[in-house]
Amino acid sequence: MSELSHKEWIARASEIRFREKAFIDGKAVPARSGRTFASVNPATGETLAEVASCGEEDIDLAVAAARRSFESGVWSRTSPAHRKQVLLRLAELLRENLHELALLESLDMGKLVRDAASIDVPGSAAIFQWYGEAIDKIYDEVAPTGRGDLALVRREPLGVVGAVVPWNFPLDMATWKCAPALAAGNSVVLKPAEQSPFSALRLAELAMEAGLPAGVLNVVPGLGETAGQALGRHMDVDCLAFTGSTAVGKMFLQYSGQSNMKQVWLETGGKSPNLVFADCGDLDAAADMAAFGIFFNQGEVCSANSRLFVEHRIKDAFVERLVQRAAATQPGDPLDPASRMGAMVDTRHAANVMRFIEGGRKSARLVTGGAQLAVNGRGSFIQPTIFDNVAHDDPLARDEIFGPVLSVVAFDGEEEALRLANDSIYGLAASVWTDSLSRAHRVADRLRVGTVSVNTVDALSPMTPFGGFKQSGFGRDLSLHALDKYTALKTTWIKY
Ligand code: NAP
Ligand code: MG
Repeated sequence: MSELSHKEWIARASEIRFREKAFIDGKAVPARSGRTFASVNPATGETLAEVASCGEEDIDLAVAAARRSFESGVWSRTSPAHRKQVLLRLAELLRENLHELALLESLDMGKLVRDAASIDVPGSAAIFQWYGEAIDKIYDEVAPTGRGDLALVRREPLGVVGAVVPWNFPLDMATWKCAPALAAGNSVVLKPAEQSPFSALRLAELAMEAGLPAGVLNVVPGLGETAGQALGRHMDVDCLAFTGSTAVGKMFLQYSGQSNMKQVWLETGGKSPNLVFADCGDLDAAADMAAFGIFFNQGEVCSANSRLFVEHRIKDAFVERLVQRAAATQPGDPLDPASRMGAMVDTRHAANVMRFIEGGRKSARLVTGGAQLAVNGRGSFIQPTIFDNVAHDDPLARDEIFGPVLSVVAFDGEEEALRLANDSIYGLAASVWTDSLSRAHRVADRLRVGTVSVNTVDALSPMTPFGGFKQSGFGRDLSLHALDKYTALKTTWIKY
């Protein structure tokens, strides 16, 4: 990637074009009602564009377009080799438009443009590429019936997939749903979060440019209560893939039960524990990654390592190291490559995070940070914040804050560490730091989470499944297992 300077990013930002219409059946269209909502840059408070606010009628049109395209076979009945070519071309187009997409992401939701350009956009391209490359290498099954019978067990696309995604990694979350769903031959209706519609709208355009037929990928920006709910309750959506909060995830289960019993797949909240044992061989590396694990993306990460459990005898030494890391991770203009943290997604979310911090000032010991600030006199930024001596049942250590706020809890021994770590309604991810191979395995075995990272944090790849236990959801994004969500098994039994 060519590195751009602060000046160059600003210059490009001033020329960028925001797609503000819905993308239905291959065309950019306003909401039928004419309604719009403002999409605001949280780093400046400026409105970037007024975006189509889709309602039930628009969702109906998008689902009908998706259904028509699915039934026509223009995508669903093409060969896997053809779908591969289109997805590989889309991956290329994402890379060719890297700077534009990174800027859309950063301006829309406040993340560092540098991170968007080095992590989000390349990550999204890699995932389209991965599913493109995979889809013509997966074989179906022949059951061991014996002679005289031939039983084929084949995967078929489900039909119309609805995807509802959050604002923290807008392009990546859209990609995690769309890439496997499209690779499998489905048609998709995607609702981005109201805070971050632009990269999804651009993705739909690029997908058509790559050769995806009209109607196969539709994007319906709008509010959760209207557009999201209409998709969740739609009688002609076969599958609803969701990433977002646990509370809204539960609503989608109800929508399904009250409508057509569509399959619902949920990736929801987290409060991931990071366990640092005294036999960890490299406390500096552990501190680097612990800080990254909570401050990356302003802490707006579902698998953020927001609960730090440290063995008593190394706790003070470890917290000291963390404070140094926090000092080096101060927020700044997201377009400045020298900034280390961006803006909180909006003023309401910043206020929520600050409420947790204010509560923590009374119940725990604030070690560093704790203030909300403006950058160049504007926007909602929050300092990297660490609380020590947090009671394990304090809201700081129990609730998903979704901001740059770390709770430190000390423990003695493996049993206590596991008991505290597993005592959560969530089970998305966990990290373990130790030089003992046996301990690493023992602890990983007993953590009730979807991903355990040992001597790193947030291990993540298109090759490995991502998703939760307990109220962090079910079903898996990424890896070949994600295809299970977007396909149904069909048995064809032939007597001969
Ligand atoms: P959210 O409020 O649950 O929103 C997620 C999506 O659901 C948005 O598109 C939202 O639309 C929509 N929505 C909201 N209310 C709805 C309703 N009543 N009916 C239908 N749809 C509705 O979550 P968020 O605040 O955007 O994102 C933060 C949450 O996402 C955190 O809890 C985080 O842990 C979770 N997350 C999980 C993962 C994972 O993979 N497990 C990854 C990233 C984030 P609006 O934008 O209009 O509200
Ligand atoms: Mg929301």
